[in-house]
Amino acid sequence: VPVDADRLVAEVLDRTRTTAQAKQISVVAEGERGHTVYGNETQLATALANLVENAVAYSPERTIVTVRTGHRAETVLLSVIDQGIGIEPRDLDRIFERFYRADKARSRATGGTGLGLAIVKHIATNHGGRVDVASTVGIGSTFTLRLPGRPPADIAVEHNPGEIAEDIGQVEVQP
Ligand code: ATP
Ligand code: MG
Repeated sequence: VPVDADRLVAEVLDRTRTTAQAKQISVVAEGERGHTVYGNETQLATALANLVENAVAYSPERTIVTVRTGHRAETVLLSVIDQGIGIEPRDLDRIFERFYRADKARSRATGGTGLGLAIVKHIATNHGGRVDVASTVGIGSTFTLRLPGRPPADIAVEHNPGEIAEDIGQVEVQP
């Protein structure tokens, strides 16, 4: 089933707004518009919402969480970028395991069970995609959902010319 990526992102922003507001964190959408992914909208929204909830949970107050849409060939990329505590390199491989939580003391304050990312991975895999992470302790983390998809018919719908320019291999776009 085709799922409109913009709608998916809007739904997730809506769903996570209250939790984010409690920490004065703004969750903002950026990047390309008009992409289509395939599958179960409810499950895909759950996966993306789990990533945003983590971003909020593991970030200090008054930071920004960004949900960025992009693509690489036929793959739609949904990245959740935070300015949070980051993840130690030795934990990076393990955080997608069920019940695994990095740094117990730190994590306990937020009271999770360690299932969120296992669910995200499961949903991504079931949709023919995957999820990966890049993170630097003290700087922040970026989790990216990669899903088989279809770019918009007219890529000019892009509302951030700088990013698409990178994708088609240009260095710079003059206004
Ligand atoms: P829950 O089941 O409520 O989601 P959880 O958030 O602890 O509990 P996961 O979402 O699976 O479980 O995340 C696993 C661990 O990965 C977390 O405990 C945390 O240590 C680490 N982690 C996940 N997302 C981030 C993030 N954005 N920044 C820093 N650490 C993170
Ligand atoms: Mg979680």
